[in-house]
Amino acid sequence: MSRPELLVVGGGIVGLSAAIAAAQHGAAVTLIDAAINAGTTANAGSLHVQLQSRFLRLYPDQAHNVEASLHLYLEAVREWDRLEANHGPFEMVRHGGLMLAENATQLKFLEAKARREAARGLDVDILERAALGRIAPWLGPQVFGAELCRDEGKLNPLTANIRLRAVARRLGTTFVKDRIVTLTVGDNVQLRGELGLYKADQAIVAAAWGSGRLLGGLGLALPSRAEPLHMNITEPAAASIQHLVQHAERSITLKQLQSGQIVIGGGWPAQSRGDDVVPAVLADSVLGNIALAGKLVPGIRELRVIRTWAGMNTTVDGKTALGRIPGAERVIVAVPGDAGYTLGPLCGRLASELAAGLPGEVDTGPYSPARFAAR
Ligand SMILES: Cc1cc2nc3c(=O)[nH]c(=O)nc-3n(C[C@H](O)[C@H](O)[C@H](O)COP(=O)(O)OP(=O)(O)OC[C@H]3O[C@@H](n4cnc5c(N)ncnc54)[C@H](O)[C@@H]3O)c2cc1C
Repeated sequence: MSRPELLVVGGGIVGLSAAIAAAQHGAAVTLIDAAINAGTTANAGSLHVQLQSRFLRLYPDQAHNVEASLHLYLEAVREWDRLEANHGPFEMVRHGGLMLAENATQLKFLEAKARREAARGLDVDILERAALGRIAPWLGPQVFGAELCRDEGKLNPLTANIRLRAVARRLGTTFVKDRIVTLTVGDNVQLRGELGLYKADQAIVAAAWGSGRLLGGLGLALPSRAEPLHMNITEPAAASIQHLVQHAERSITLKQLQSGQIVIGGGWPAQSRGDDVVPAVLADSVLGNIALAGKLVPGIRELRVIRTWAGMNTTVDGKTALGRIPGAERVIVAVPGDAGYTLGPLCGRLASELAAGLPGEVDTGPYSPARFAAR
């Protein structure tokens, strides 16, 4: 019997993970990637589980979608544990994440948030200043308290991406650099790219911000939007910061890599130059992001920032879009919800299990793209 053929569009963390799992299930996989503006090659390596204050502030209308997906984030970090064990090391640790409060009002907000998260199975606690100081003595004196989410962690995405790409290659994935322009479905799936025509039994569309444009022709109005974001990294310092650090009201993520370098990001904007061009770094984001980091962790103020960059995140409606397309069932969409690098390996594997007709251990029903189908 011939092997089932699968096309994967998009070579980010979702597409790579889908290709790896599909090859393990016996499929002949061709991964087609335009290799432009992948969030996967620009991201900060935070493994997010708790509700991010940045997201709640920017997209309050989508907050319920993220909250309803919290169990998926717990599954997603376990998926990263398995990947680390099988294909690592990715410099991954799960020592937990701190979300900082600088006053009593912010801590009250975190207390309410922690109650909602605990009800959904997250391992969270509120720490007053004295307890916080014992585990994070490097914090500035004005920090009042924090929420600790023990499920969270961090890794080095550069290492993880290189290793996972090598695994996919070793398992026989064919990599093609092309941009797909049209997608048609009949007795098979046909993808027309700028450079070639590709046919297979099924396709997984994991093209992040590019997914909506591709799927429009199949009657799916997936509102995938590109969101240009800013990042910084410092020179190395002595290791001291174990946790992923965020703030209850301000946009920041801060973490220390094994190299000692501090990675600072958390959603400061970059300047879009169109979806197909790398976004431009904004001076206000460099200054604002770094100043906030130095205020929260005074010990890093003397470090030099050795690189800043901008990359393309993708937003949809806060919830992962994962499943077969109504009326075009040979096509499976896999676009992760907020914090897509955290969710990516799980989304990719679940998409490949759908393609193989395997019963996954996660119910993907709530994430079906049918919510975007023309009525
Ligand atoms: C600066 C920044 C920091 C971030 N930090 C974090 C973090 O710390 N933790 C976290 O969990 N998440 C983070 N994210 C989000 C995360 O990086 C993304 O959500 C995730 O990488 C998306 O993975 P993906 O595989 O869905 O898509 P991507 O990695 O975006 O890859 C999509 C690929 O599809 C290709 N493509 C698009 N259209 C087509 C087409 N028509 N034909 C062929 N190929 C196409 C693109 O060129 C791209 O290569 C961050 C994002 C940014 C930008």
